[in-house]
Amino acid sequence: MSKRDYYEILGVSKDASKEEIKKAYRKLARKYHPDVNKEEDAADKFKEAKEAYEVLGNEQKRAQYDQFGHAGPQGQGFGGGFGAEDFGGFGDIFDMFFGGGRRRDPNAPRQGADLQYTMTLDFEEAIFGKETDIEIPKEEECNTCHGSGAKPGTSPKTCSHCNGTGQLNMEQNTPFGRVVNKRVCHYCQGSGKIIEDKCDTCGGAGKVRKRKKIHVNIPAGIDEGQQIRVSGQGEPGVNGGPAGDLYVVIQIRPHDFYQREGDHIFCEMPITFTQAALGDEIEIPTVHGRVKLKVPSGTQTGKTFRLKGKGAPNVRGYGHGDQHVKIRVITPTNLSERQKELLREFNDISGNHPADENEESFFQRVKKAFKGD
Ligand SMILES: [Zn+2]
Ligand SMILES: [Zn+2]
Repeated sequence: MSKRDYYEILGVSKDASKEEIKKAYRKLARKYHPDVNKEEDAADKFKEAKEAYEVLGNEQKRAQYDQFGHAGPQGQGFGGGFGAEDFGGFGDIFDMFFGGGRRRDPNAPRQGADLQYTMTLDFEEAIFGKETDIEIPKEEECNTCHGSGAKPGTSPKTCSHCNGTGQLNMEQNTPFGRVVNKRVCHYCQGSGKIIEDKCDTCGGAGKVRKRKKIHVNIPAGIDEGQQIRVSGQGEPGVNGGPAGDLYVVIQIRPHDFYQREGDHIFCEMPITFTQAALGDEIEIPTVHGRVKLKVPSGTQTGKTFRLKGKGAPNVRGYGHGDQHVKIRVITPTNLSERQKELLREFNDISGNHPADENEESFFQRVKKAFKGD
């Protein structure tokens, strides 16, 4: 079954602002929330809208979606999992329905933070893609206590001061009556739990910082500034929540000969003035190997030839770009006496006029410009 376009689901344009996307989502969520709408497909529609909003409402994921579509470059797709955003989303809806302030349950599962890693590739590596391992420092669940922070054999106790809510009610008498303020519980720092015997490995944090090797598959044709999402390789989740994602941002080292614009490659090719005048078959380097190019006689500097399909592969798999070869005619230097003699002879029989008619008119325009002085 093919998935519907996220923009289509929310009914917004591709260049919709963050606000427009949020508004569109809220409207749909209100309409299809399973608590309100008892129609059979309401839950599916609600889920669909939520998934679309999870991607389009997040700048990184939206950019990723715009570039790679539903599949994502790793083919892992978007959505799934119950993360902080899911709960945030529900919170928003409950706010709307019940008008209450948002409560943050310290025991609720929360998604781990996303991580970002910048990878610098050689020009050719970006063209052909590569599989590689990267090492990133990241937090991992502590193996000793499996994330609880408590010494093996013991477990964290529910904080008796806040009964595990992480919040304390502070009552104050004021001239207007009694006011109840909620404050973060300072006995448990809002976690709702007290660890009496702390794990020796992590000191009660439940997490340790390690360098972790992660396998990354760079798709062929990736371009400067694009990013690859490696699902679940961000920081670990809290209270059993899912891990965040890792975003690998691509930088490409400049090449001496090639420049790249999207899927197209550009280069400048020097030829001698005799090759330009007489025509020749020359060899052009491309990232796909050498290619022969016929340069017709009378070729001028700036003339561009297109080598079809010799550019970069499209990262979404839509064929290849081209290589554009711009010719530069090199004026000879350090001429020998014999060469100079021949050129003088050439000049004499040419009558000091360019042979080509177009060139003649060009020279005439130059002459006119001088007369106009
Ligand atoms: Zn531990
Ligand atoms: Zn507490």
